[in-house]
Amino acid sequence: MNNKTVAFIGLGNMGGPMAVNLAKAGFTVNAFDLSPAALDAAKSGGCEPFTDSSAAAKSADYVVTMLPNGQIVEAVYLGENGLLSVVKPDALVIDCSTVAPENSKKVGEAAEAKGIAFIDAPVSGGTAAAGAGTLSFMCGGSSENVERAKAVLDVMGANIFHAGAVGAGAVAKICNNMLLAIHMIGTSEAIQMGVKNGLDPKVLSDIMLKSSGGNWSLEKYNPYPGVMETVPASRNYEGGFFVDLMLKDLNLAVDAAKASSATIPLGGLARNLYSLFREGDAANGRKDFSSIVKMFGQIPE
Ligand code: NAD
Repeated sequence: MNNKTVAFIGLGNMGGPMAVNLAKAGFTVNAFDLSPAALDAAKSGGCEPFTDSSAAAKSADYVVTMLPNGQIVEAVYLGENGLLSVVKPDALVIDCSTVAPENSKKVGEAAEAKGIAFIDAPVSGGTAAAGAGTLSFMCGGSSENVERAKAVLDVMGANIFHAGAVGAGAVAKICNNMLLAIHMIGTSEAIQMGVKNGLDPKVLSDIMLKSSGGNWSLEKYNPYPGVMETVPASRNYEGGFFVDLMLKDLNLAVDAAKASSATIPLGGLARNLYSLFREGDAANGRKDFSSIVKMFGQIPE
């Protein structure tokens, strides 16, 4: 048990297990979510349930948010009733949601104006890593604040990176997921071409993995059913990282590229392919992102 309190706002697929890991590590976790079911699950995991976010946050030493998008993050922190108007002046505020860099900067500037410490710290690793406490955090903020945040981030993650000033964590997250989408699409395309030309997908995957086409999708997350036992491709693309979330991240990448005049032809194409895939069948939105392999050919039933 330690004597520090964390307010945890947003107890969904990611935030729920992250909050429970903090409670297990001995923090008092003041938990809040709009969903009663999410709040109940956090309570079963040792968190203290609160009926509003301000009550949860006002006595906290750390405030952690894990929310769906940047609009919600701004609504939760800013304004007359926002969390920045109730947190203790010496609290450290950490937003782990995947948002646009502009959202992080806006909240960061408002926090700075009130003398409150803030970092953005989006994550990589998905729900399995959230449960196992092995997430990677990409932090944006001062070195001092990132060091301070390690007291809670170390409990929830295995890798803590300092990307730069506030907003830099969001940029790193968007770049990483854009690259992930691109190599997943490229891997899918290559395997499907091999299959159409008579190759066994597993044999081809083994060859490419040990050759110059090797990449993370081939090594850890093969998109073709039956090549790897434990990945979403081998369980009808259930669970994993939803197409809808990948599309959200690719839209953030396109927005960030526009705002900075960066050229992202492949990122833009990846965004469009995921969008077409989603439009083809709305149910695809709730399938793992490796199911994009179906755009390039049939897969075995
Ligand atoms: P989720 O939809 O499961 O959880 C979000 C939670 O926030 C929900 O329980 C919802 O009720 C709650 N919420 C919404 N508005 C709220 C408010 N105003 N106050 C309090 N609670 C509110 O989503 P998730 O999968 O946990 O993702 C959370 C964030 O993490 C997103 O930004 C997502 O892009 C990012 N992320 C997700 C994954 C993943 O694999 N799921 C991986 C990396 C990053």
